[in-house]
Amino acid sequence: MAGQLMDFHGIVMYQKAYRERDLLVKFFTAEAGKRMFFIRGAKKRGFKMTADLMPFTHGEYVGDIREPGLSFINAAKETENFTVISQDIAKNAYATYMMSLLDMAIPDNQLLGGWYRRLFYGLKLINDGLDEAIIANIFEVQIMALFGVEPNLRQCVVCGRTDLAFDFSESYGGLLCQQHWHLDPNRLKLDQRTIFYLRQFSAVDLTKLKTISVREETKQHLRQALDVIYADMIGVYPRSKRFLDQMMQWQTGFEQPNRQDETKQPPQNQQD
Ligand SMILES: [Zn+2]
Repeated sequence: MAGQLMDFHGIVMYQKAYRERDLLVKFFTAEAGKRMFFIRGAKKRGFKMTADLMPFTHGEYVGDIREPGLSFINAAKETENFTVISQDIAKNAYATYMMSLLDMAIPDNQLLGGWYRRLFYGLKLINDGLDEAIIANIFEVQIMALFGVEPNLRQCVVCGRTDLAFDFSESYGGLLCQQHWHLDPNRLKLDQRTIFYLRQFSAVDLTKLKTISVREETKQHLRQALDVIYADMIGVYPRSKRFLDQMMQWQTGFEQPNRQDETKQPPQNQQD
């Protein structure tokens, strides 16, 4: 099948070496879904598009979109790098995790729907300095639907009440009000603040979010709750999440704030 020459908006997910002088670069594109591009001569001296193809770069490109097989990039028109993400190991790890979730949730070459914009704004917010852990939480809560899991975070799944304390039940697929807690002895026993944020996160519009602030203890509870929900209900554990978990262990395991020399590079250039 012939390729289609088109302008597209893209976000670079990762790149990997291919043969001696070439690169494979994977993009999220607004117009053609996730695509793998073959970049001939990308490692030769004088190659013009090096900066345009770095991970966390986004912008407008001209490409030859092929299906099946690899696509090609003819030119980069206007690109920009999320440099804060690129240079910060924690922001990088969270952003990489968000990208790998979206990578796993939607097959290659399929349109991403509203998810291109959500990913773009999620990354932009992290790059602008909003809390990367919370932005990733919002992404995690909202992307569950793409994995076919859509827990009811609006109201009690049994009676529909919204005025009592809630807990989360995996077996009931969402919230249980206090009157119905007895139905599930294995409910997650989350505190009301954590529940409050889970509900907020399911409804917030990432493209319009301006500020967010969650206290440290609640952030940890949100992380734990989402880890349980992801392990039990979603069942995906990308390599980038494993790295993130290790990073959090380093942070809690060592009090020294300046450990950058001893940390490994995040797996930004690898495929999950
Ligand atoms: Zn109820």
